[in-house]
Amino acid sequence: MIAEQLLQIKRTIQLYAPDPGKVKLIAVSKKQTIDKMQVCLDSGQTVFGENFLQEAQSKKELLQQGAEFHFIGRLQKNKIKRIPSLFSTLHTLTDYETAQLLNQHFAKSQQVLQVLLQVNLSQETSKAGLLDFSSLQYVTEQVLTLPNLKLIGLMTIGDPQATATSTQKLFAQLRSYQEQLAKQFAIEDQFIELSMGMSHDYILALQEGATFIRLGQSLFGSRK
Ligand SMILES: *Cc1c(COP(=O)(O)O)cnc(C)c1O
Repeated sequence: MIAEQLLQIKRTIQLYAPDPGKVKLIAVSKKQTIDKMQVCLDSGQTVFGENFLQEAQSKKELLQQGAEFHFIGRLQKNKIKRIPSLFSTLHTLTDYETAQLLNQHFAKSQQVLQVLLQVNLSQETSKAGLLDFSSLQYVTEQVLTLPNLKLIGLMTIGDPQATATSTQKLFAQLRSYQEQLAKQFAIEDQFIELSMGMSHDYILALQEGATFIRLGQSLFGSRK
């Protein structure tokens, strides 16, 4: 079942992405079982997205080797020190203060964390994220000064209530921001990722150039 879903998702990527070779699937495994995750891993899907530190930690201990975890949840400042041993990439950076703390902890363990800035394009108050282009420019400039963080792109969460047209616009907007920032700061070689698209809207995201799609329920089935 999961192996079949993986194949189906790969076909969808081939069909809709302008450059399928650039697209990476993140298997969003929050509230999913270890057994299902292990099936993924055995089928060659190695990257998992988790929203909660505690959950990620216990899963990492139970899974066989070879899994890589991306953090896609809200990060509480008092838990930042636990990120280095668990995650390679964080999709939800929204402020410089958090970036500095992350940088300190990654410097201690002599590691580099890949980060994406989260943008709240739909400006829903329930969502985290930078709200406009000028704050994006500001945080980008600051994060680029931190040696143990590597800024690789932008992330957004679509609104499940929105129409296809407005979701498509939103994803196109994120891509435009990414292109502008890459140019402005001359980081075209590293600022290449667009994390957008979940189970309900990932085809639209693929069409607009997503490079990370974050799929939970369409891959694993509904959550516990
Ligand atoms: C839970 C979650 C997903 C996956 O959602 P599905 O609808 O199950 O695909 C993707 N991104 C973020 C940030 C999430 O919290």
